[in-house]
Amino acid sequence: MLIDSHVHLETFSIKEINEIMQRAKTAGISAVISAGVDLETSNKSVNLSKKFNDIFSGVGIHPMNISEDLNEESFLHIHSLALNNEKVLVMSEIGLDFTENISTRKIQYDIFRQQIRIALDLKIPIVFHSRESHQDVLRILLEEKAYEVGGVMHYFQGDENIAEQAIDLGFYLSFAKPLLRYPYLQNIISKINLDKIVVETDTYPQTFKPNRNKWTEPKDLKLIISKISEIKKIPFNEIEFNIQNNMKNLLKNKWNIIEKYLKIN
Ligand SMILES: [Zn+2]
Repeated sequence: MLIDSHVHLETFSIKEINEIMQRAKTAGISAVISAGVDLETSNKSVNLSKKFNDIFSGVGIHPMNISEDLNEESFLHIHSLALNNEKVLVMSEIGLDFTENISTRKIQYDIFRQQIRIALDLKIPIVFHSRESHQDVLRILLEEKAYEVGGVMHYFQGDENIAEQAIDLGFYLSFAKPLLRYPYLQNIISKINLDKIVVETDTYPQTFKPNRNKWTEPKDLKLIISKISEIKKIPFNEIEFNIQNNMKNLLKNKWNIIEKYLKIN
């Protein structure tokens, strides 16, 4: 069973989400975890998960979506969304991003830490974003003892050294479509253990691509797994089985929620 561990479906129309999930199903993808990036999309993600059996949720504030009106109440809201909705499986998407002048590092650190603490309180794994901030992200994960809940370094684009450090701290690495074209990522895949790898498409509305058929969707997860299979010279089915196991280990008792909604045993 294949699960797209990280997508953003919240801003698609319901009609499109239906079609996207249908195409996913046809391609053999059983479910997705759709991550909020702010309060509004976190709410939407939870609502989507109520409407669709095969959509599960992440809630959180993305470093690029930090707004000035965030306050204690905002974090209480995130906390209660995760606490009161069993289909919220992960704290996502949170992290650090130093590529643009979005908000000061101090604010980003604070908000990242607060959300790690929510995850620790609720005992759910975190799925984190890191851009030009890897050492700081890893330092904060260590300082906050985030390894106690574990999680995923999403859309992995770091180097071998960062991969080793993240794995050493107890986290999984999630690979997306850049693996299809970047030799440095293919090299990392060839070296790391299969039991540290998960996969995702990070699907969101790619309005900059004029051809709608070229937009990344959960159905593309198969391309990523085929690439891993080719690099590691291990059959596709074995890769699929291993990644499912990794998701199981990542989600721990939350895995039961997936089984419950997909009606598998
Ligand atoms: Zn994302």
